[in-house]
Amino acid sequence: MTQARIIDGKQVAADLRDSVAARTAQLSYKPGLAVVLVGEDPASSVYVRSKDRAANAAGIAARTIRLPATTTQPELLAVVHGLNADDSVDGILVQLPLPAHIESRPVLEAIDPAKDVDGFHPVNVGRLHEGRPTLVPCTPLGVMKLLAATGVNLRGARALVLGRSAIVGKPMAALLTAADATVTIAHSRTRDLPAECRRAEILVAAVGRAEMVRADWVAPGAVVIDVGINRLPDGRLVGDVAYDECAAVAGAITPVPGGVGPMTIACLLENTLLAAEARRR
Ligand code: NDP
Repeated sequence: MTQARIIDGKQVAADLRDSVAARTAQLSYKPGLAVVLVGEDPASSVYVRSKDRAANAAGIAARTIRLPATTTQPELLAVVHGLNADDSVDGILVQLPLPAHIESRPVLEAIDPAKDVDGFHPVNVGRLHEGRPTLVPCTPLGVMKLLAATGVNLRGARALVLGRSAIVGKPMAALLTAADATVTIAHSRTRDLPAECRRAEILVAAVGRAEMVRADWVAPGAVVIDVGINRLPDGRLVGDVAYDECAAVAGAITPVPGGVGPMTIACLLENTLLAAEARRR
């Protein structure tokens, strides 16, 4: 039934990791990445371990600072300030979500913008929305690289971003706008979502609702990028897009898993390299 071209995020991510490794091998130093993990969230622990492994394989000196779930906000801020002052650290990432008693915003804002490899600091957010070069959030950056890999021409194209979070939807829309797409942002208050989606030549779904996007929401030939990661009661992982039926209509589509997911870590490695090059110039 599939007719869409399947966008192979694993392959594009592997190529990006190789390119980062080749570039770090040319440096006279090892870029340093510090990941701060507070508490024992199992999904975060798995994710942080894969970041560590991928970073070290790409010639980046990665270390994880594991703090107990009882860490206070001032204690966490002190750790971030210490990493800001540590010259061997080029990139700092505080793994979200943080335990409920810690407010994430002041922590993210304490990170030196030059080391903010997640691109969540307001200085970097502002630069992105002004269309200036900056450290860009890894997931939407990964989507841009997948779009580039499909060869789709973004200039003037009608793009719809489904979701307006600070982590995915908003930076995604800013990146597509900077690439000269004509961008619509849809969200939970959008009227007639299926009709809005059907107008899009490029549809990026980042809602966190399992298989919400159906075949009749997709324009024939559209490029569909599925950012969503949802676990079904039977344990299966699915995206925000009903993959099988949408693949029969779309021109190109990302699978879940194996689409956007692998790009996020690869882009984190590239951001760490870029931060290192900019700091040590
Ligand atoms: P958020 O929950 O922060 O944002 C979800 C967005 O979707 C909101 O803007 C919300 O609208 C909108 N939304 C929710 N329900 C509906 C609906 N029924 N109709 C229309 N819009 C709706 O999620 P994130 O942006 O953090 O993540 C989105 C998905 O991407 C999740 O599945 C997450 O797991 C995944 N993800 C994947 C990553 C990867 O590496 N592949 C990285 C980060 C996230 P409103 O603003 O109106 O509430």
